[in-house]
Amino acid sequence: MTKNIPHRLYLTEDQMPKQWYNLRADMKEQHDPMLNPATGKPAELEDLYPVFCKELARQELDNETRYFDIPEEVQDIYKIYRPSPLCRAYNLEKALDTPAKIYYKFEGNNTSGSHKLNSAVAQAYYAKEQGLKGLTTETGAGQWGTALSEACSYFNIPLEVYMVKVSFNQKPFRKNIMETFGAQVFASPSERTEAGRKILAEDPQNSGSLGCAISEAVERAVTSDGYRYVLGSVLNQVLLHQSIIGLEAHQAMELLDEYPDLVIGCAGGGSNLGGLIAPFMRDKLTGKADPRIIAVEPASCPSFTRGVYKYDFCDTGKITPMAKMYTLGCTFKPSANHAGGLRYHGMSPILSKLYHDKYMEAVAVEQTKVFEAATLFAKYETILPAPESAHAIRSAIDEALKCKESGEEKTILFGLTGTGYFDMVAYASFNEGTMSDHIPTDEELQPSIDAIPVIPGIQE
Ligand SMILES: *Cc1c(COP(=O)(O)O)cnc(C)c1O
Repeated sequence: MTKNIPHRLYLTEDQMPKQWYNLRADMKEQHDPMLNPATGKPAELEDLYPVFCKELARQELDNETRYFDIPEEVQDIYKIYRPSPLCRAYNLEKALDTPAKIYYKFEGNNTSGSHKLNSAVAQAYYAKEQGLKGLTTETGAGQWGTALSEACSYFNIPLEVYMVKVSFNQKPFRKNIMETFGAQVFASPSERTEAGRKILAEDPQNSGSLGCAISEAVERAVTSDGYRYVLGSVLNQVLLHQSIIGLEAHQAMELLDEYPDLVIGCAGGGSNLGGLIAPFMRDKLTGKADPRIIAVEPASCPSFTRGVYKYDFCDTGKITPMAKMYTLGCTFKPSANHAGGLRYHGMSPILSKLYHDKYMEAVAVEQTKVFEAATLFAKYETILPAPESAHAIRSAIDEALKCKESGEEKTILFGLTGTGYFDMVAYASFNEGTMSDHIPTDEELQPSIDAIPVIPGIQE
């Protein structure tokens, strides 16, 4: 009997999850603890208070509470742009002539154009609750800065965004959106901080880096009374908030009487993937089901597939606590031709542990193949995907084509994290045939891996 499955399924407001799910509560083994770099000891709650809001610090270190209530104020703003639809890619399936069923969870239906708003709203809410005076952050491509601007505007919290100068100049409209929501946006390096002034004194033309932008944002937060610095990926608290993606998808599939054989997501710092897979990984860990779970990363920034599992700094500025994760070394820089996003050197400690313990797989894909998939998807499904999301599309298409070969009717679910309207320079270079691929050699990867810090008694 063929089921009548709609192109798009939206849960009703009543069906929307009212709790986030903490995957750590069901993991057989926990990831190694975050370390305070000054002492080499596991970070305690008090160590985190100068950096994070109290409630977020608590979420960061809690690996026992299975479900966290989503505060009502957060649910209220979720309801403005959620639930996000679970879509069936009928046209793409037909174009690929595959027996596979392809589903995707679309997170691009908000102004930030990505899933990042799910955590930005939570982080801004807890900052407001604690009576903080303002927040600072950095942004590279601009999605995180935009999402946090939206959230801070909603809760009426001042926000300073330090945006990598090269990106600030290349994507001027990103700045305009953030300013529309009331954020102050500064090209980094700026004259507003010691860190920025020092770099500009040595090199007035410096075009900035994520490391420098983080240093500026952190410096402003610790030197401004009542300010905190916030991060949009990698951290356990961010994966917790992003579990809303997976919980909605899991519930929608249940309503359709479907279950994925494969769950696929792109991996930058791991927040969307960690959120999407959370309830499916729960089923796997508790023996209820056994879906394959695949992380997709760029061949030019291959943290999972070619990185090492070690303690490293989460930022290029070496200010944050150290996390045990798959990393290419915090000084790693993807090659200049890399346009496809997901350029973070490390990976969520939760996902790193699950990958290390073989609960999930990872593949690396080249950017021209990613844009080929993005273009095909746009033509058949009408959504112009973010290059980051298109990594997951690439892998979903590859798996659907394998089903065509084998005749297997697998059910595939992938995360479509966002839209690509600000990535037109990259699309243009793909369309003009000038986009190239770069797979770093082992020799190219080695220096930043060698530069991963030694921690006496813990790692050589
Ligand atoms: C930031 C971003 C990503 C990657 O970040 P994760 O933390 O790995 O999820 C993926 N897709 C889009 C659209 C993004 O903005």
